Amino acid sequence: MRVERGETVTTKLKVAKWYSKQASENAFSLTGGDVSVKGNFIDINPDRYKVRVTDNGLNSDPNSKQTIKIKLKSLGLFSTTGGVWVPGLTDRGQEVELKETENNSGQFVSANLLLVSTTTDNKFRARGIAPNSLNDPTLKVRLSDVVIATYRNAANQEVSGAAGVPATRKLAVGINQLLNNVGNRQYVKNADVALDLYYTREIFAQIGVQVDVSYQQNLRQSTTVLDGVRMDLDRDGLSVYEKEFASPVVIAKETRIMTGQWVNLTPAGVRGLDVISVYFPNFLTTDATAGRPFAEGVALYLLGTVMMNGPVAAPGAEAGPKAHGYVTLAHELGHFLLAGIVLHAPSTNAMQKVHLMVEGDSAVEANTVFDSRRLTSADEREILFWRGKGHKWFK
Ligand SMILES: [Zn+2]
Repeated sequence: MRVERGETVTTKLKVAKWYSKQASENAFSLTGGDVSVKGNFIDINPDRYKVRVTDNGLNSDPNSKQTIKIKLKSLGLFSTTGGVWVPGLTDRGQEVELKETENNSGQFVSANLLLVSTTTDNKFRARGIAPNSLNDPTLKVRLSDVVIATYRNAANQEVSGAAGVPATRKLAVGINQLLNNVGNRQYVKNADVALDLYYTREIFAQIGVQVDVSYQQNLRQSTTVLDGVRMDLDRDGLSVYEKEFASPVVIAKETRIMTGQWVNLTPAGVRGLDVISVYFPNFLTTDATAGRPFAEGVALYLLGTVMMNGPVAAPGAEAGPKAHGYVTLAHELGHFLLAGIVLHAPSTNAMQKVHLMVEGDSAVEANTVFDSRRLTSADEREILFWRGKGHKWFK
Protein backbone atom coordinates (compact mmCIF):
# COMPACT_ATOMS: atom_id res chain seq x y z
CA MET A 1 0.00 0.00 0.00
CA ARG A 2 1.35 3.42 -0.86
CA VAL A 3 0.39 7.06 -0.58
CA GLU A 4 0.92 9.13 -3.72
CA ARG A 5 1.15 12.77 -4.61
CA GLY A 6 0.86 13.28 -8.35
CA GLU A 7 1.48 9.57 -9.24
CA THR A 8 4.67 9.58 -7.14
CA VAL A 9 4.94 7.62 -3.92
CA THR A 10 5.49 9.86 -0.91
CA THR A 11 5.90 9.73 2.86
CA LYS A 12 5.08 13.44 3.25
CA LEU A 13 1.70 15.07 2.79
CA LYS A 14 0.60 18.69 3.07
CA VAL A 15 -2.49 20.42 4.35
CA ALA A 16 -4.31 21.76 1.31
CA LYS A 17 -4.81 25.45 0.74
CA TRP A 18 -8.13 26.15 -0.94
CA TYR A 19 -7.18 29.59 -2.11
CA SER A 20 -4.55 30.20 -4.75
CA LYS A 21 -3.59 33.19 -6.82
CA GLN A 22 -3.73 30.87 -9.80
CA ALA A 23 -7.35 30.62 -10.88
CA SER A 24 -6.76 27.07 -12.12
CA GLU A 25 -5.86 25.93 -8.57
CA ASN A 26 -8.38 28.02 -6.68
CA ALA A 27 -11.10 26.14 -4.80
CA PHE A 28 -13.49 29.05 -5.21
CA SER A 29 -15.13 30.59 -8.21
CA LEU A 30 -16.24 34.16 -8.18
CA THR A 31 -19.25 35.47 -10.07
CA GLY A 32 -19.58 39.16 -9.44
CA GLY A 33 -19.69 39.41 -5.65
CA ASP A 34 -20.83 35.81 -5.17
CA VAL A 35 -18.34 33.16 -4.19
CA SER A 36 -18.88 29.38 -4.42
CA VAL A 37 -16.81 26.21 -4.09
CA LYS A 38 -15.86 24.64 -7.41
CA GLY A 39 -17.26 21.13 -7.91
CA ASN A 40 -13.80 19.78 -8.82
CA PHE A 41 -11.86 21.72 -6.17
CA ILE A 42 -10.17 18.56 -4.83
CA ASP A 43 -9.08 17.29 -8.25
CA ILE A 44 -7.34 20.61 -9.07
CA ASN A 45 -5.66 21.10 -5.69
CA PRO A 46 -1.84 20.84 -5.86
CA ASP A 47 -1.77 19.09 -2.46
CA ARG A 48 -4.26 16.33 -3.30
CA TYR A 49 -3.18 12.73 -2.73
CA LYS A 50 -4.28 9.18 -3.49
CA VAL A 51 -3.93 5.81 -1.83
CA ARG A 52 -2.92 2.81 -3.96
CA VAL A 53 -2.98 -0.88 -2.97
CA THR A 54 -1.25 -3.55 -5.05
CA ASP A 55 -2.56 -6.92 -3.88
CA ASN A 56 -3.43 -9.61 -6.40
CA GLY A 57 -5.07 -11.62 -3.61
CA LEU A 58 -7.98 -9.17 -3.75
CA ASN A 59 -8.33 -9.52 -7.54
CA SER A 60 -11.16 -12.03 -7.16
CA ASP A 61 -12.36 -11.88 -10.76
CA PRO A 62 -9.90 -11.42 -13.68
CA ASN A 63 -12.76 -10.36 -15.97
CA SER A 64 -14.01 -7.40 -13.94
CA LYS A 65 -12.75 -4.56 -11.77
CA GLN A 66 -13.04 -5.15 -8.05
CA THR A 67 -13.53 -2.50 -5.38
CA ILE A 68 -11.87 -2.73 -1.97
CA LYS A 69 -12.22 -0.61 1.15
CA ILE A 70 -9.49 0.97 3.22
CA LYS A 71 -9.74 2.84 6.51
CA LEU A 72 -8.13 6.29 6.75
CA LYS A 73 -7.34 8.08 9.99
CA SER A 74 -4.93 10.68 11.39
CA LEU A 75 -3.15 10.58 14.71
CA GLY A 76 -0.56 12.50 16.66
CA LEU A 77 0.44 13.64 20.11
CA PHE A 78 -1.82 15.61 22.43
CA SER A 79 -0.62 17.42 25.55
CA THR A 80 -2.47 16.69 28.76
CA THR A 81 -3.05 19.25 31.54
CA GLY A 82 -0.04 17.76 33.28
CA GLY A 83 2.12 18.63 30.27
CA VAL A 84 2.54 14.98 29.25
CA TRP A 85 2.25 14.14 25.55
CA VAL A 86 0.02 11.18 24.75
CA PRO A 87 -0.89 9.70 21.34
CA GLY A 88 -4.44 10.16 20.12
CA LEU A 89 -6.64 10.49 17.05
CA THR A 90 -6.94 13.88 15.38
CA ASP A 91 -9.61 12.51 13.04
CA ARG A 92 -11.12 9.05 13.57
CA GLY A 93 -11.46 9.04 9.79
CA GLN A 94 -13.58 7.07 7.37
CA GLU A 95 -13.65 4.17 4.97
CA VAL A 96 -12.64 4.92 1.40
CA GLU A 97 -13.23 2.73 -1.64
CA LEU A 98 -10.36 1.89 -3.99
CA LYS A 99 -11.24 0.75 -7.50
CA GLU A 100 -9.17 -1.72 -9.49
CA THR A 101 -7.42 0.23 -12.25
CA GLU A 102 -8.30 -2.28 -14.95
CA ASN A 103 -9.48 -5.87 -15.23
CA ASN A 104 -7.02 -8.28 -13.61
CA SER A 105 -4.48 -5.54 -12.63
CA GLY A 106 -4.58 -6.30 -8.89
CA GLN A 107 -4.00 -2.57 -8.39
CA PHE A 108 -6.57 -0.53 -6.55
CA VAL A 109 -6.56 3.26 -6.35
CA SER A 110 -8.62 5.86 -4.53
CA ALA A 111 -10.13 9.05 -5.91
CA ASN A 112 -8.23 12.26 -5.09
CA LEU A 113 -8.19 13.03 -1.36
CA LEU A 114 -7.40 16.16 0.63
CA LEU A 115 -6.00 16.94 4.08
CA VAL A 116 -7.61 19.87 5.89
CA SER A 117 -6.64 21.61 9.13
CA THR A 118 -9.88 23.25 10.27
CA THR A 119 -13.02 21.65 11.62
CA THR A 120 -15.16 23.74 9.28
CA ASP A 121 -13.31 22.53 6.19
CA ASN A 122 -13.56 18.96 7.47
CA LYS A 123 -17.31 19.27 7.98
CA PHE A 124 -17.85 20.70 4.49
CA ARG A 125 -19.70 18.14 2.36
CA ALA A 126 -16.99 17.69 -0.24
CA ARG A 127 -18.39 15.76 -3.25
CA GLY A 128 -21.68 15.96 -1.31
CA ILE A 129 -20.46 13.38 1.23
CA ALA A 130 -21.04 13.81 4.97
CA PRO A 131 -17.92 13.99 7.17
CA ASN A 132 -16.49 10.66 8.32
CA SER A 133 -18.88 8.66 6.15
CA LEU A 134 -17.88 6.34 3.29
CA ASN A 135 -15.66 8.06 0.69
CA ASP A 136 -15.47 11.41 2.52
CA PRO A 137 -12.46 12.85 0.67
CA THR A 138 -11.28 15.15 3.49
CA LEU A 139 -9.36 14.16 6.61
CA LYS A 140 -8.48 16.59 9.40
CA VAL A 141 -4.84 16.72 10.52
CA ARG A 142 -2.48 18.83 12.59
CA LEU A 143 1.13 19.42 11.60
CA SER A 144 3.42 16.58 12.77
CA ASP A 145 0.51 14.10 12.60
CA VAL A 146 0.64 10.80 10.74
CA VAL A 147 -1.99 9.70 8.21
CA ILE A 148 -2.58 5.95 8.36
CA ALA A 149 -4.36 3.84 5.77
CA THR A 150 -5.23 0.20 6.50
CA TYR A 151 -6.97 -2.64 4.69
CA ARG A 152 -7.49 -6.38 5.17
CA ASN A 153 -5.86 -8.74 2.70
CA ALA A 154 -7.31 -12.03 1.44
CA ALA A 155 -5.91 -13.81 4.52
CA ASN A 156 -7.78 -11.25 6.71
CA GLN A 157 -4.53 -9.72 7.95
CA GLU A 158 -4.41 -5.99 8.50
CA VAL A 159 -1.97 -4.20 6.17
CA SER A 160 -1.15 -0.53 6.63
CA GLY A 161 0.71 2.32 5.00
CA ALA A 162 1.46 5.75 6.40
CA ALA A 163 2.63 9.25 5.52
CA GLY A 164 3.58 12.15 7.78
CA VAL A 165 2.40 15.76 7.71
CA PRO A 166 5.62 17.54 8.68
CA ALA A 167 5.86 21.24 9.50
CA THR A 168 7.84 23.35 7.02
CA ARG A 169 8.66 26.01 9.60
CA LYS A 170 8.16 26.58 13.32
CA LEU A 171 7.00 29.84 14.84
CA ALA A 172 8.01 30.38 18.50
CA VAL A 173 5.63 32.35 20.73
CA GLY A 174 5.71 33.15 24.46
CA ILE A 175 2.41 33.44 26.31
CA ASN A 176 2.01 36.08 29.06
CA GLN A 177 -1.26 36.13 31.00
CA LEU A 178 -1.82 39.10 33.29
CA LEU A 179 -3.20 38.62 36.79
CA ASN A 180 -5.94 40.56 38.54
CA ASN A 181 -4.23 42.06 41.60
CA VAL A 182 -7.28 41.59 43.81
CA GLY A 183 -7.99 37.90 43.29
CA ASN A 184 -4.65 37.03 41.70
CA ARG A 185 -6.63 35.37 38.92
CA GLN A 186 -5.79 35.23 35.26
CA TYR A 187 -7.86 37.68 33.24
CA VAL A 188 -7.65 35.32 30.29
CA LYS A 189 -7.72 31.74 31.51
CA ASN A 190 -5.49 28.86 30.39
CA ALA A 191 -8.42 27.20 28.61
CA ASP A 192 -9.05 30.35 26.54
CA VAL A 193 -5.39 30.62 25.61
CA ALA A 194 -5.38 26.94 24.62
CA LEU A 195 -8.43 27.52 22.41
CA ASP A 196 -6.79 30.56 20.82
CA LEU A 197 -3.68 28.51 20.02
CA TYR A 198 -5.89 25.73 18.62
CA TYR A 199 -7.57 28.09 16.12
CA THR A 200 -4.25 29.74 15.25
CA ARG A 201 -2.62 26.37 14.56
CA GLU A 202 -5.57 25.34 12.37
CA ILE A 203 -5.00 28.45 10.26
CA PHE A 204 -1.20 28.36 9.94
CA ALA A 205 -1.17 24.62 9.17
CA GLN A 206 -2.41 25.64 5.70
CA ILE A 207 1.10 26.91 4.90
CA GLY A 208 3.01 24.33 6.97
CA VAL A 209 3.81 26.71 9.83
CA GLN A 210 3.67 25.07 13.25
CA VAL A 211 3.05 27.37 16.23
CA ASP A 212 5.21 26.30 19.18
CA VAL A 213 4.80 27.74 22.68
CA SER A 214 8.28 28.40 24.14
CA TYR A 215 6.94 29.46 27.53
CA GLN A 216 3.66 30.32 29.25
CA GLN A 217 3.64 32.49 32.36
CA ASN A 218 1.44 34.62 34.61
CA LEU A 219 2.41 38.27 35.17
CA ARG A 220 1.41 40.82 37.77
CA GLN A 221 0.64 44.29 36.48
CA SER A 222 3.34 46.91 36.74
CA THR A 223 2.75 50.01 38.87
CA THR A 224 5.01 52.14 36.69
CA VAL A 225 3.56 55.43 35.35
CA LEU A 226 4.92 56.54 31.98
CA ASP A 227 3.96 60.02 30.73
CA GLY A 228 0.78 59.89 32.78
CA VAL A 229 -0.15 56.46 31.42
CA ARG A 230 -0.44 53.61 33.85
CA MET A 231 -1.98 50.19 33.80
CA ASP A 232 -5.32 49.81 35.49
CA LEU A 233 -6.11 46.17 35.18
CA ASP A 234 -8.55 45.90 38.03
CA ARG A 235 -11.10 48.02 36.23
CA ASP A 236 -12.22 48.11 32.63
CA GLY A 237 -8.98 47.21 31.08
CA LEU A 238 -5.54 48.35 30.50
CA SER A 239 -5.38 52.12 30.42
CA VAL A 240 -5.71 55.16 32.64
CA TYR A 241 -7.54 56.58 29.62
CA GLU A 242 -10.13 53.86 29.83
CA LYS A 243 -13.03 56.29 29.52
CA GLU A 244 -11.58 58.00 26.50
CA PHE A 245 -10.64 56.91 23.06
CA ALA A 246 -7.27 55.21 23.19
CA SER A 247 -4.71 55.89 20.54
CA PRO A 248 -2.06 53.47 19.30
CA VAL A 249 0.40 55.68 21.23
CA VAL A 250 -1.33 54.84 24.52
CA ILE A 251 -1.39 51.14 23.68
CA ALA A 252 2.32 51.30 22.87
CA LYS A 253 3.05 53.06 26.20
CA GLU A 254 1.07 50.47 28.09
CA THR A 255 2.94 47.75 26.28
CA ARG A 256 6.23 49.38 27.28
CA ILE A 257 5.11 49.45 30.92
CA MET A 258 4.02 45.84 30.74
CA THR A 259 7.16 44.60 29.07
CA GLY A 260 9.62 47.00 30.70
CA GLN A 261 10.90 47.74 27.21
CA TRP A 262 11.33 51.50 26.81
CA VAL A 263 12.76 51.83 23.35
CA ASN A 264 11.89 50.22 20.05
CA LEU A 265 14.12 47.50 18.71
CA THR A 266 15.80 47.87 15.36
CA PRO A 267 14.52 45.51 12.63
CA ALA A 268 17.72 43.52 13.15
CA GLY A 269 16.87 43.36 16.86
CA VAL A 270 13.42 41.98 16.06
CA ARG A 271 14.98 39.38 13.76
CA GLY A 272 17.26 38.32 16.63
CA LEU A 273 14.45 37.67 19.14
CA ASP A 274 14.03 34.03 20.17
CA VAL A 275 10.29 34.33 20.56
CA ILE A 276 7.33 36.63 19.85
CA SER A 277 5.76 37.71 23.16
CA VAL A 278 1.97 37.48 23.18
CA TYR A 279 0.22 39.31 26.03
CA PHE A 280 -3.24 38.56 27.34
CA PRO A 281 -4.23 41.48 29.59
CA ASN A 282 -7.86 42.12 30.44
CA PHE A 283 -9.31 44.24 27.64
CA LEU A 284 -7.56 46.71 25.44
CA THR A 285 -8.81 50.21 26.15
CA THR A 286 -12.35 50.86 25.07
CA ASP A 287 -13.81 53.79 23.26
CA ALA A 288 -16.56 54.45 25.81
CA THR A 289 -18.75 56.25 23.29
CA ALA A 290 -18.93 53.47 20.79
CA GLY A 291 -18.54 50.72 23.38
CA ARG A 292 -15.98 49.13 21.12
CA PRO A 293 -12.47 47.91 21.86
CA PHE A 294 -9.49 49.79 20.50
CA ALA A 295 -8.86 46.73 18.42
CA GLU A 296 -9.23 42.99 18.70
CA GLY A 297 -5.48 42.76 18.88
CA VAL A 298 -2.39 44.76 18.08
CA ALA A 299 0.95 43.68 16.63
CA LEU A 300 3.78 45.93 17.85
CA TYR A 301 6.53 44.61 15.62
CA LEU A 302 9.34 46.82 16.95
CA LEU A 303 8.50 45.81 20.52
CA GLY A 304 8.38 42.13 19.56
CA THR A 305 4.96 42.03 21.15
CA VAL A 306 1.39 41.11 20.31
CA MET A 307 -1.42 42.37 22.55
CA MET A 308 -4.76 40.56 22.59
CA ASN A 309 -8.13 42.00 23.65
CA GLY A 310 -9.80 39.69 26.19
CA PRO A 311 -10.40 35.97 25.49
CA VAL A 312 -11.10 34.44 22.07
CA ALA A 313 -14.65 34.22 20.73
CA ALA A 314 -15.80 30.97 19.07
CA PRO A 315 -15.83 30.86 15.26
CA GLY A 316 -19.09 32.40 14.16
CA ALA A 317 -19.53 34.44 17.34
CA GLU A 318 -19.25 38.21 17.53
CA ALA A 319 -15.77 39.21 18.66
CA GLY A 320 -15.94 42.66 20.29
CA PRO A 321 -15.88 44.54 22.53
CA LYS A 322 -14.66 42.12 25.22
CA ALA A 323 -13.23 39.32 23.13
CA HIS A 324 -11.23 38.92 19.96
CA GLY A 325 -12.06 36.84 16.91
CA TYR A 326 -10.78 33.33 16.33
CA VAL A 327 -8.58 34.57 13.46
CA THR A 328 -7.19 37.56 15.40
CA LEU A 329 -4.10 35.90 16.89
CA ALA A 330 -3.19 34.40 13.50
CA HIS A 331 -3.74 37.82 11.93
CA GLU A 332 -1.46 39.62 14.44
CA LEU A 333 1.24 36.95 14.16
CA GLY A 334 0.83 37.38 10.41
CA HIS A 335 2.06 40.97 10.76
CA PHE A 336 5.28 39.57 12.24
CA LEU A 337 5.60 36.95 9.50
CA LEU A 338 5.25 39.77 6.97
CA ALA A 339 8.05 41.65 8.82
CA GLY A 340 5.78 44.26 10.37
CA ILE A 341 3.97 45.20 7.20
CA VAL A 342 0.39 46.32 7.75
CA LEU A 343 -1.96 45.12 5.06
CA HIS A 344 -5.48 46.24 5.80
CA ALA A 345 -6.94 46.94 2.40
CA PRO A 346 -10.71 47.23 2.58
CA SER A 347 -12.56 44.28 1.10
CA THR A 348 -14.05 45.06 -2.27
CA ASN A 349 -15.68 41.72 -2.98
CA ALA A 350 -16.65 38.49 -1.30
CA MET A 351 -13.40 36.76 -2.23
CA GLN A 352 -11.27 39.28 -0.39
CA LYS A 353 -13.12 38.49 2.82
CA VAL A 354 -11.64 35.02 2.76
CA HIS A 355 -8.14 36.55 2.93
CA LEU A 356 -6.75 36.37 6.46
CA MET A 357 -4.55 39.43 6.05
CA VAL A 358 -7.30 41.68 4.78
CA GLU A 359 -9.96 42.96 7.12
CA GLY A 360 -13.42 42.29 5.82
CA ASP A 361 -16.37 42.57 8.17
CA SER A 362 -14.23 41.30 11.02
CA ALA A 363 -16.71 41.89 13.86
CA VAL A 364 -18.81 38.89 12.89
CA GLU A 365 -17.15 35.79 11.59
CA ALA A 366 -19.55 33.51 9.87
CA ASN A 367 -17.67 30.21 10.28
CA THR A 368 -18.11 28.90 6.76
CA VAL A 369 -15.53 27.67 4.26
CA PHE A 370 -15.69 31.17 2.71
CA ASP A 371 -14.63 32.83 5.94
CA SER A 372 -11.48 34.82 6.69
CA ARG A 373 -9.43 31.81 7.80
CA ARG A 374 -7.68 31.43 4.44
CA LEU A 375 -4.01 31.80 3.68
CA THR A 376 -3.18 31.95 0.00
CA SER A 377 -0.36 30.48 -2.05
CA ALA A 378 0.87 34.08 -2.44
CA ASP A 379 0.92 34.50 1.39
CA GLU A 380 2.85 31.25 1.67
CA ARG A 381 5.57 32.41 -0.74
CA GLU A 382 5.84 35.82 0.86
CA ILE A 383 6.03 34.43 4.41
CA LEU A 384 8.21 31.35 3.88
CA PHE A 385 10.62 32.59 1.25
CA TRP A 386 10.75 36.35 1.61
CA ARG A 387 9.65 38.47 4.55
CA GLY A 388 9.60 35.78 7.24
CA LYS A 389 13.15 34.69 6.39
CA GLY A 390 15.99 35.47 8.80
CA HIS A 391 13.83 35.82 11.90
CA LYS A 392 15.21 33.72 14.76
CA TRP A 393 11.67 33.10 16.09
CA PHE A 394 10.73 31.61 12.70
CA LYS A 395 12.81 28.53 12.00
ZN1 LIG B 1 -3.77 43.97 11.57
